[in-house]
This record gives sequence, structure tokens and C-alpha cells, in this order.
Amino acid sequence: MRRALITGITGQDGRYLAELLHSKNYEVFGLIKGQNNPRIELVQAELPFVELVSGDLQDLSSLVAALEQVQPDEVYNLGAISFVALSFKQAELTANVTGLGVLRLLEAIRMVGGSSGNPVRFYQASSSEMFGKVRESPQIESTAFYPRSPYGCAKVFGHDITVNYRDSYGLFACSGILFNHESPRRGIEFVTRKVTNAVARIKLGLQETLVLGDLEPRRDWGFAGDYVHAMWMMLQQDRPADYVVATGRTHSVRDFVDAAFRHVGLDDWERYLKQDARFFRPSEVDLLVGDATKARTELGWKPEVDFESLVAMMVDHDLKLEARKAGIRQP
Ligand code: NAP
Repeated sequence: MRRALITGITGQDGRYLAELLHSKNYEVFGLIKGQNNPRIELVQAELPFVELVSGDLQDLSSLVAALEQVQPDEVYNLGAISFVALSFKQAELTANVTGLGVLRLLEAIRMVGGSSGNPVRFYQASSSEMFGKVRESPQIESTAFYPRSPYGCAKVFGHDITVNYRDSYGLFACSGILFNHESPRRGIEFVTRKVTNAVARIKLGLQETLVLGDLEPRRDWGFAGDYVHAMWMMLQQDRPADYVVATGRTHSVRDFVDAAFRHVGLDDWERYLKQDARFFRPSEVDLLVGDATKARTELGWKPEVDFESLVAMMVDHDLKLEARKAGIRQP
């Protein structure tokens, strides 16, 4: 059985990836930070097959100990301060976890090595936010970076240090430049889930308004369950490389809101919407759209869930969730 260690096991992608690797007969280990992490119960209930290992991306010795314990064949670094808005407020923490955390994990891998002397294969969760104020559209692997947030800057460091350790030490290290991907497991702080949850609550009569910032930024949105396949595929290649993972289609936040309200039959949704300057970013990323030709041709990866199905999946999930919480019977 191959052994995989996932950082960010409590997050959206960590949970989908754990399921995928389990279905492929891996032994799956998840790094858990903190003394009494409130999300342990969620992981244990959803993913009982995952063995939890304590460690923190801010603490090199804990990463060394985790690697010594797990002896992994593959390491997926999904742990990060991943919420762009928070990164503006906690820029130093973001640089430390999202940026330097990658360096610490790579160093730990160099120090410990893999199972039975086999080299560890490493996946770094890079982000389209590295393209920021885009230099060209669509964005491909060689598009120059111009990050527009502390999160984007930290991800650029994580990406560059991954490439550097591959070049310098011959590590099998891949960077997946993933465009936005969502799911019912998306954190409620992210705009897509905030929208689908509010739409569900408005439909159920539990909430009156949806408060948002800028509606015009455009993103390339895919389904997280599809994207974790690309992560795994990268580590199964003969040679390590970097790949853009995207749908190639772009929609505005307004389009997302429109699709979510229309899905529950509330076509006149403008009356539920309020805009608040507090939710605008200090510097915005206007348009992201990726070209995943390399991932399609070299990995054989393609997205299965389209934009409309993704929005519907998230709204339906939130309708059930909120109805259950409020004790409302759904038809
Ligand atoms: P997420 O739901 O926000 O999960 C982030 C994870 O990082 C959580 O499990 C969190 O653990 C963990 N973490 C935070 N600080 C840590 C620390 N100091 N040490 C160890 N773990 C720590 O993120 P996601 O959406 O699954 O994304 C996974 C990765 O892909 C992230 O690196 C993200 O930046 C990147 N990415 C995401 C997208 C996207 O659209 N989702 C796109 C491109 C790249 P706790 O629960 O304990 O805080």
C-alpha cells in the first residue's frame, strides 16, 4: 500500500483528496495543527480511514517528526491561510504559513526522505491568484506572475521554492496552478459558498439579504472533486512538472449570484442584494481564466462538472443543510 501525507486535511481539497486516495487503496495520513483542533471531529466522522498526525507548517521540527512517523511515498501540501481577504489583515501569518510553510515541508522531506529509501513525491497547491493583474489571457504555466494580495505573494514564493528544490536537489516536486474550485465543502467565508448558503436561507425564509462586495471580478470556477484528480495525476508522471488546472470558462461573481438565485426560482434577486464596501479587496484581481491544455494532453485530465451544475450542487446542499438545522421539512 502506498502512503500519502496530506497537509490541509480539514480543508475542502484535503477531504476530497483523502477520499480519492483511499479509493485508490492508499494509506492516508492527515496533518492536524493545534492542541484541540475543532475540525478533528468533522474529519473523523467524514473520513474514518484517515490517520491524523499532529504538526504545523510553522514548525519545522513537527514536520520532520510527522514525516518520520508516516514515511510517505507522496506528500500533498494543501495547508495554507487560503482566504485572500484574511491575508490582507494577517499578511505576516499568511507569508509564514502559505509561503515559508512550503520551504519547511520541502526541507523536512530533504532531511527525512521517503519510505524504504524511495524518494518522496511532493505536490504544492499553487494558485491562479499568482497571476493577479494578469499579463495575458488565458493564463498558462509560463504566464508571468503579478500577485495582488499577500496570499498571492506567498503562493508565488511557495511555487518558486518548489521549482527551485526540484532543480537544485532533484526532488520529484510538482506545482499545480489551480484556478478557483468550489464545492459544498467550501468554507462559508468564501464568496461562492457565502452566496449559495444565503440563497438557501433566503429561499427558506431564514434570511432577508445577501451582502457582498464587488460583483464584477471574473473567475474560472471548477469543482474541487474534479481538481484533486489532477493533483494525484501529476505525481504519477515519469517526470515532475507544473500544470495549470482550470475549466477555461470564466464567469463574474454576478453570474454566480444570478445562477444561484435562479436555481431556487428567485429570478428577481436584485431586491435581496446589498453591497458593502467592507467586502471589497484593497487590490482586486479582475479576470482569471486558465488554459489547461498541458494538463489535458500530458495528464489526460479534464473537468467533469460545469458551472451551472456546480452552482446547483452547492445550493441544493445548502438548502438541505439549512432546512435540517431549522427543522424545516423539505419537499
Ligand atoms: P481550505 O479549505 O482553506 O483549507 C486550508 C487548510 O490549511 C486547512 O485544513 C487548515 O487547517 C490548514 N492550515 C492552515 N494553517 C495551517 C498551519 N499553520 N499548519 C498546517 N495546516 C494549516 O483550502 P482549500 O480550498 O482546501 O485549498 C487547499 C489548498 O489549495 C490551499 O493551499 C489553497 O491555498 C490552495 N488553492 C485553493 C484554491 C481553491 O479555489 N480552493 C485554488 C488554488 C489554490 P485548520 O482547519 O486546522 O485551520
